[in-house]
Amino acid sequence: MIRALFEAGADVFRINMSHNSHAELADKVRVIRELEENVGRPIAILADLQGPKIRLGTLPNGERDLAKGEKVHLVRKPSVESGDDIPIPHAEIFAAIQPGEVILIDDGKVRLKIEDVGKDEADAIVENGGVIKNKKGINLPDTVLPIPAMTPKDRSDLDAALALGVDWIALSFVQRPDDMADLKKIVGNKAGCLAKIEKPRAIDWLPEILDLSDAIMVARGDLGVELPVQEVPGKQKLITKMARKAGKPVVVATQMLESMITAPVPTRAEVTDVANAVFDGADAVMLSAESAAGDYPVEAVSMMDKIAMTVEGDPQYIPIMNSQRNEPESTTPDAIMAAVHEVTSTIHARAVVCWTKSGSTALRAARERSDAPIIALTPQLEVSRRLSLVWGLHCIYTEDAQDLDDMVDRAARFAFLEGFAKPGERIVVTAGVPLRTPGATNMLRVAFVGPQKSL
Ligand code: PGA
Ligand code: MN
Repeated sequence: MIRALFEAGADVFRINMSHNSHAELADKVRVIRELEENVGRPIAILADLQGPKIRLGTLPNGERDLAKGEKVHLVRKPSVESGDDIPIPHAEIFAAIQPGEVILIDDGKVRLKIEDVGKDEADAIVENGGVIKNKKGINLPDTVLPIPAMTPKDRSDLDAALALGVDWIALSFVQRPDDMADLKKIVGNKAGCLAKIEKPRAIDWLPEILDLSDAIMVARGDLGVELPVQEVPGKQKLITKMARKAGKPVVVATQMLESMITAPVPTRAEVTDVANAVFDGADAVMLSAESAAGDYPVEAVSMMDKIAMTVEGDPQYIPIMNSQRNEPESTTPDAIMAAVHEVTSTIHARAVVCWTKSGSTALRAARERSDAPIIALTPQLEVSRRLSLVWGLHCIYTEDAQDLDDMVDRAARFAFLEGFAKPGERIVVTAGVPLRTPGATNMLRVAFVGPQKSL
């Protein structure tokens, strides 16, 4: 199935640690790496840490019906045997929550407003009623909890994922910049660090969180619980825009093709939602239950691929990208990439080929959202995998260029062999010279694809 999903267009596989044991994680990583070896294309693996998901305790009969307007009493206990108290086994909540703040239960279906708070108890009024059941998830949209974003389970999942050499680590329920700094301290440069934006408070800290992250996710599932759902589209635009300005990949996630969990075709609204994320310049669109547990995983990936390809081929796409273009920062690589943008559109170059060691040049090339696919050539296998998340990049793992002729020759050959350019067509090549010395991109060259010999 993983092979079928890759062939249907998947570039990155997310392994959700909420639903995978370490053995299952290891098994999936092994299968994906075998596939990668087999198809000869880099594939990225993203391990998603569950984060501090808060849950109800256990109720006397396993469930309870709450009526709108009813007053309820919350207690800090793992379980309640009899009576009407509602157990919440988290001391941090009682320490942090304030009167007037809201507690949401079961994806926001039940809504309580806090009236009074004691040390290990609180009084609340039911604003939206419904049935609550044992262990259902709790969201606190108004409250910053004094808890680290990484629980002991996350720490052990993180160690397991890093030992297996995954390419990206995602952290859920990031609240503060410090949460990402803490993750980064452990991960170092072993993997990229992705912040899932699903707490409204994280949006207040977006510039600082972006600064400490290598990528970001618009996690619309939990964000839509913690915020009024009609505010999510505006936040999606804001997060996408800020990530693009920073030149960091942004993933749009959750319910993108939700109806395909049980149906072979999506709704028109879902197709439009995926298309709009692509028109906004997102780097990646993500499936969750559609591919993880649905009846039509291959159809869902294939549909997403078709939508993305069709939008990128739409005559309105490039003008829209150009209208949202970010100014280059005052660096040599950015100046070169701005020039690449000009040259590419002026001569209708078929591809941009970037020689990149750390991957940073390829990220700056993608930030331009130019009118040509970008081939990222890198001598680092890890970089080629990690960059698979990024907009417009076709990554190839290959040894460093020997000299300037080799640099241009191999760029042209890869553009030809990978189907981007035919003999006689032009490509744009960037590199740092002198070659093989660490240093940033400072050169742009236009090359013709010649009659091809074998590599
Ligand atoms: P999840 O994150 O699927 O891990 O909950 C994504 C989201 O909340 O949208
Ligand atoms: Mn989530």
